[in-house]
Amino acid sequence: MTDPFGFLRIPREAVPARPVEQRLGDWHEVYAGQALLPLVSRQADRCMDCGIPFCHTGCPLGNLIPEWNAYAARGDWHAAYERLHATNNFPEVTGRLCPAPCEDACVLTINADPVTIKNVEQAIADEGRRRGYMTPRPAEKRSGRAVAVIGSGPAGLAAAQQLTRAGHRVTVHERADRIGGMLRYGIPEFKMEKSHLDRRIEQMRGEGTVFVTGADIGGAVGTGADELRGRCDAVVVAVGAGERRELPVPGRSLHGIHQAMDYLTCANRVREGDYAVSPVTAEGRHVVIVGGGDTGSDCLGTALRQGAVSVLQLDINPEPGAGRPDDEPWPVYPRTYRISHAHEEARGRAGRDPRLFARATLRFEGDEAGRVRALHLTAVEPVGRSPLTGTEDVIPAGLVLLALGFSGPERAGGLREQLALELDERGNFARDAGFAAAGGQAPGVFVAGDAGRGQSLVVWAIAEGRAAAAAVDRYLTGSTCLPAPVAAHDRPMTALGRMRYGL
Ligand SMILES: Cc1cc2nc3c(=O)[nH]c(=O)nc-3n(C[C@H](O)[C@H](O)[C@H](O)COP(=O)(O)OP(=O)(O)OC[C@H]3O[C@@H](n4cnc5c(N)ncnc54)[C@H](O)[C@@H]3O)c2cc1C
Repeated sequence: MTDPFGFLRIPREAVPARPVEQRLGDWHEVYAGQALLPLVSRQADRCMDCGIPFCHTGCPLGNLIPEWNAYAARGDWHAAYERLHATNNFPEVTGRLCPAPCEDACVLTINADPVTIKNVEQAIADEGRRRGYMTPRPAEKRSGRAVAVIGSGPAGLAAAQQLTRAGHRVTVHERADRIGGMLRYGIPEFKMEKSHLDRRIEQMRGEGTVFVTGADIGGAVGTGADELRGRCDAVVVAVGAGERRELPVPGRSLHGIHQAMDYLTCANRVREGDYAVSPVTAEGRHVVIVGGGDTGSDCLGTALRQGAVSVLQLDINPEPGAGRPDDEPWPVYPRTYRISHAHEEARGRAGRDPRLFARATLRFEGDEAGRVRALHLTAVEPVGRSPLTGTEDVIPAGLVLLALGFSGPERAGGLREQLALELDERGNFARDAGFAAAGGQAPGVFVAGDAGRGQSLVVWAIAEGRAAAAAVDRYLTGSTCLPAPVAAHDRPMTALGRMRYGL
């Protein structure tokens, strides 16, 4: 147990980010990893082991937070590492990327600062790896059953690791040329260095998971999804929510206006060594990012590192308040004014916050060569978002990045038709509470992650991958020992929830 009075004696101290100018000069992670260890043992002692750990319910994975806090506080890194992995396949990923709803649910948050749960998680994961605990854990017995996982994002990877460890022969089929989904080509290196992903893939290979890249299942030249289903005993569809939202305003077809994912993919490919210089770069340009969520923030950090002249980020939502709103009481994740590391960097460079709230784009203006040079915008009403007359403004824009979110799994391609997948009312692949594709037309087909849940978070993708794996194991063998942290319809993310997480 942690010190029962630790929270009274020790103030919260989060790991410091590297200085803005230093981190803008490279692509390494924003937070200095070495600073973590000395800090977290003390910080873990702030966990008061409150008896009813609301942090568990804040976390979709049901992470055993007070338990690993106690082990971290007394420096038992092996026990902490095992406890962490009991509920999470990739804590080094969530320790870096998760918005940490667990911290907002921490009981201390009622009248004090929460425990730095995310820092502790990352420290345990990193220290465990340094100490050599991250070795392959192959199954003791093979089942003789074959499972195909389509998509290699966190949902597909979590499902694949669980099913391989349960003894099944698992092959992950990925359309892209590298494994990882959004972890590879969406999320920038400065948020999570890809070496963490590569190490996990090596561990999974060591356990027996097979990876096939360049495999567009159901695509024009790829393997048919029905053929794949015929070859395997079960299929997990974890293809993400790739259908991007558009901005159909005049001037959209001008050069220099890109979907955020195309831009971020190019920047990530530079880091992977595919390009010397990104084909879509912010260097020397006035950049406008349309969209106020995580993706927009990632574009901001990328544009600053590429040498943008200026960057503005337009958010159609009104500016949130600094404190928890009355209608979003503890322990829910509140919509408050948050400053991401990219916002902090922009403030450091320009001396002001890059965000313009409650703004909508009216049209784009181009030059003679057909390239965008300005964006016309208007202020909107906080509720209803109607334009406010007399507020039109024009801002310079040499590169525009559309970070408007995603509206479900891609509709094009043969995957959906070949597996007889139905869409739910939100345009995601429908499934029952046990992750089985809905309708009963496709027995043995399961749906996990953003493809079924809609655009969400890494922690949800991992939770769903784990739970879908348990459902597949039960389908194949009649029972399962695999843990299932969530049901497919458990706590679906509401429109308000998506807004809170900036999605
Ligand atoms: C820019 C950006 C930043 C984000 N930042 C964060 C963050 O900081 N924290 C956080 O918690 N969440 C973040 N998210 C959300 C998070 O990345 C997603 O919720 C998560 O990756 C979803 O996982 P998934 O496995 O369901 O799908 P994905 O990660 O999208 O992976 C799906 C994979 O399926 C592949 N695929 C698609 N169709 C086929 C096919 N027919 N055949 C074979 N393969 C196919 C795709 O190529 C892709 O690799 C971010 C998202 C974006 C876009």
